[in-house]
Amino acid sequence: MSQPFTCPHCGSHDYSIVLTGCDVASATLQEDFAWDPERGEYSSGGTVILSSESVENEGGHAVCQQCEKDVSETVAAYEEQQESGNA
Ligand SMILES: [Zn+2]
Repeated sequence: MSQPFTCPHCGSHDYSIVLTGCDVASATLQEDFAWDPERGEYSSGGTVILSSESVENEGGHAVCQQCEKDVSETVAAYEEQQESGNA
């Protein structure tokens, strides 16, 4: 059984990887637009990478979905742990 990532700040298991200024090869991107009747305009959740051949993610960082704190180091350590565990 693999253990989920756990946010050191709030204990949440959900996180997002945010990529900024990256080279993404053959990527498929998606941006969702939701109509907001109160504001009378579309709101966008931003662009999402659905798939890619490779991502140079030196400019990437991980953000907790719950408390929105930077959890890059914890995620990196978690992924390393997963890789060594599956090897
Ligand atoms: Zn958190």
